[in-house]
Amino acid sequence: MSPLDVWQQCLLQIKDKVATQTFETWFEPLKATDIGDTNIVLQVPSKFHFEWLDSHYRPIILDTLKSITQKDLQVRYSVVLGEDPEPDPTPYFPSPKKIPLNGSQSPQMNPRFIFDNFIEGAGNQFAKAAASSLCKDGSTNRFNPLVIYGGVGLGKTHLLQAVGNEMLARQPGIRIVYTTSEKFTLDFIASIQKNNTASFSTHYRNVDMLLVDDIQFFQKKEQTQEQFFHTFNDLHQRGKQIVMTMDKAPSELSGLKERLISRFQSGLTVDIQAPDFETRIAILNGKAEADQLDIPYAATEYIASCIKTNVRDLEGALIRLLAYSSLRKQEITLDLARQVVKELLGKNATRAVSVDSIIKLVSKEYNIRETNLVGKGRRKDIAHSRQLAMYLSRELTDASLVHIGLHFAGRDHSTVIHACNQVEKRMSADAVFAAKVDNLQSELANSVF
Ligand code: ADP
Ligand code: MG
Repeated sequence: MSPLDVWQQCLLQIKDKVATQTFETWFEPLKATDIGDTNIVLQVPSKFHFEWLDSHYRPIILDTLKSITQKDLQVRYSVVLGEDPEPDPTPYFPSPKKIPLNGSQSPQMNPRFIFDNFIEGAGNQFAKAAASSLCKDGSTNRFNPLVIYGGVGLGKTHLLQAVGNEMLARQPGIRIVYTTSEKFTLDFIASIQKNNTASFSTHYRNVDMLLVDDIQFFQKKEQTQEQFFHTFNDLHQRGKQIVMTMDKAPSELSGLKERLISRFQSGLTVDIQAPDFETRIAILNGKAEADQLDIPYAATEYIASCIKTNVRDLEGALIRLLAYSSLRKQEITLDLARQVVKELLGKNATRAVSVDSIIKLVSKEYNIRETNLVGKGRRKDIAHSRQLAMYLSRELTDASLVHIGLHFAGRDHSTVIHACNQVEKRMSADAVFAAKVDNLQSELANSVF
C-alpha cells in the first residue's frame, strides 16, 4: 500500500473515533509522504499543530496505524511552512514520547479524564463528590449503583472515566470494565451469533467494578436489557460497584423496562447541570493552563459568555481558536475569538452580549468616555448612565452581579443591585426613558460583532 492509501484508511477510522470538529481541525490537514517498515512520515502545517496532535492524539494514531498495517509503526512528522507546501529540509522528528503504560492501565480508559482536571461548579459539584467518594479507600459501596445523568457534553463520560482511572491508580490489580450501552449491546449480539454467550457473561461479570456509559441506548432493546438486568443483579448481589450515566433522570427514560429503572433508582442518582459563567471561565482557563497556552482574558470571557450550554462546545471553540491562531500565525485576541465563535454558532452568536459591548454602546449613546463610565466619578449624568449599563448587563448577559461589578471599577454586587433598582424606578416613572432602554436592549441583542 502506498503511504497515501494507508493514511486514507487511517483517516476513515479516525473519523469515527473523534469529534467531527477535531477531525477537521487536526487530521484533515495531514498528509502522509512516506512509509517504511518502521515508520510513517506525516506532513503537518505547523510546529504547533504537531505538538497538539502528538500530545493529544498520539495513541489514536498509533492504534489505528497498527490495526491497518499490523505493524508497530513510529510516526515522524515533517513541518511544512508557508503557503507553498515545500517540505521542511530538516524534518522535525519528535523524541518518541511514550504514554506511561503501567500494568494497570486499561485500554478502555482515556488517561485524560481524571478528577484533577474536572473543574467544579455549582452544576456538577455533587456529581463529582459522589463519584470521587466511591474511590476513597475503605468505601463500602454506599451508593450502588451510582447514576449520573445530564445533557450532552456536560462531563458525564469524564466523571465515569475518572472513577475508573482513579480506582486503577489506587488498586492496580482491580478489574474494571468500562463500556457504553451500545458496545454492551453489540457484544451481546455478537456473542449470540458466535454461540459464546458464556464468554460474554464472564467478561462483564468477572469484574470488581462496572462502568456503563449512556444507558439511554438500551431503549427498546428488550433482549439486551434483560441481559443487562441479570449482569446488574449478579454484580450488585456480590457487592460490586456499578456506575452508570444517562441523558435523563432514570424515571424519565422511556423504552426501558420498569424493573430495570427501579434497580437504577435503588442507589444514588445525581445530575449534572450546565456550568454557570464563572465555571465556564474556570474550565477554559483550566484547559489553557493544561496546554500551556496564553489566552487573553477578554477572549476567554467572550467565549464563556457566548457558549453556555455545553462544555464540549466550549472546548471546541478553544481548539478552533488555537488552530486559527496557529494556521494563520496570528496572536490569540478578542477579535479572533469573535470570529471563531461567530463561525461556530452561526446566527446564534449574535444573541450573546458581553458586558464590554454594553459599556461601549452606552458610552457612545451618552457621549461619555468609557473610562469615565466605568470609573469612580460621581457626576450625575455619568452615574445614571453607569447604572443603566449595569442594568443592561444584568438583563442581557448571564454574568453574575459580582462579575458585573468587577467591570465597573470593582464595585460590589450590592451596588449593582442598587443600580438596577434605580433604573427600574426611572423606567416606571418615565416612559421616554423606558422606550430608550428597550431600544438599547434590542440594538444590543441584534448586534453582530
Ligand atoms: P458527556 O459525556 O456528558 O456528553 P463529556 O464527559 O464527554 O460529556 O465532556 C465533554 C468534554 O468536556 C470532555 O472533553 C470533558 O473533558 C470536558 N468537560 C466536561 N465537564 C468538564 C469540567 N467540569 N471540567 C473540565 N472539563 C470538562
Ligand atoms: Mg458521554
